[in-house]
Amino acid sequence: MTKEEIILASQEFLFPAVFHYYKDPLVIARAKDQFVYDADGNQYLDFFGGILTISVGHCNERVNAKVHQQIDRLEHVSTVFPTEPQAALAKRLAEIAPGNVRQSFFTNSGTEANETAILAARCYTGSDEIIALRHSYHGRSGLAMGLTGNANWRLAGALQPGIIHTANAYCYRCPFGLTYPECDVQCARDLEDVIRSSTSGHVAGIIAEPIQGVGGFITPPREYFQIVAEIVRRHGGIFISDEVQTAWGRTGGKWWGIEQYLVTPDIITSAKGLGNGLPIGVTIATPEVAASLKGATISTFGGNPVATTAAKAVIDLIEEENLMANAAETGAYLREKLDELWEKHALIGEVRGMGLMQAIELVRDRKTKEPAVEETAQLMEAARQNRLLVGKGGIFGNVIRISPPLNIRKADVDEFARSLDASLAQCSTLHAAAR
Ligand code: PMP
Repeated sequence: MTKEEIILASQEFLFPAVFHYYKDPLVIARAKDQFVYDADGNQYLDFFGGILTISVGHCNERVNAKVHQQIDRLEHVSTVFPTEPQAALAKRLAEIAPGNVRQSFFTNSGTEANETAILAARCYTGSDEIIALRHSYHGRSGLAMGLTGNANWRLAGALQPGIIHTANAYCYRCPFGLTYPECDVQCARDLEDVIRSSTSGHVAGIIAEPIQGVGGFITPPREYFQIVAEIVRRHGGIFISDEVQTAWGRTGGKWWGIEQYLVTPDIITSAKGLGNGLPIGVTIATPEVAASLKGATISTFGGNPVATTAAKAVIDLIEEENLMANAAETGAYLREKLDELWEKHALIGEVRGMGLMQAIELVRDRKTKEPAVEETAQLMEAARQNRLLVGKGGIFGNVIRISPPLNIRKADVDEFARSLDASLAQCSTLHAAAR
């Protein structure tokens, strides 16, 4: 098919809700390491890392060699038969998961991982009431959309009983109008009042992303989750860390984002970067929580031998190549470059994130913080022209998300910074002309 035929067929035969980045959609034909190539053979630097899925580079040879072997040996049997790839991955996850979080249930996506986690929390506590955060994203099933605190991703029908949204730690736009640290982390402490006023007082738990991904890499202060976890546990609930974006070393130096906050969760959910592009979701829980799911449950493709082989190869590679340390070190270098761009371009209101999960929030005016929505769309287009791919996010759609593969080097960051700088300059010129 030509690229025009691909675009036309996508428009005619896919749900219109399947949206594409860019006015003129970019058809990707192939990818290798940190680069993707369009249908005309143009090379782009992928600083979105798929969509935080490509942890160790596109079509990683070491991972794919194992995938190729596995796909010819055993492709599928379902979870009613034990297989070595699934067992080996579960054992490996138990080794790297924090605290007593050590039993896995495999599915195919982050949405399903969260469905399983909420079910487990409800079974374990005997309560239906779940706390989620504003600006969160937890997936696209009915329940997951109900958990999601971002109206852009809550389609009609997403209303779910038993879910209460509490304040997130969006310091740049503090919901209480306060400033950290004088605020005494009011956004976390407010949960006490939310539980008192809006629940039965006995809750199933809280689900939270350590850094809110789709929300625009909103990065809470260090105390936030300790305060929140203590309040939830005092009211009978458990702590679910949605690590669909923050796991696998992305935040630098640690396997899990929640470890940066010194909280040990009862359940971790993840997906995305675990398979380096192959579909896999996982819910990892303490044995007590896992045992509360009485009776049998099945996921036809969950624990698929090919996906679990890829996942274990990804984890092994991250460890062998010390990529968690690289995420910290190269992430710090990336942050320096972004801070320099903040000095130079007034369009950037804030730089935030951890490790190789960094974002810039764009504003029309640094004082009023009016979201620069159109400018963000223009910046996406300009970056594409400069052969750079980044992600978009934030409740207003004014955040650029930067999440390259964990094995990029400083030279890649230099190239990225040059392209982003040029793209920002193009946007600023457009602005000046429009005024
Ligand atoms: N949780 C988080 C934090 C996510 O970012 C996502 C995906 N963007 C999901 C859950 C849902 O994952 P999936 O799209 O694989 O269902």
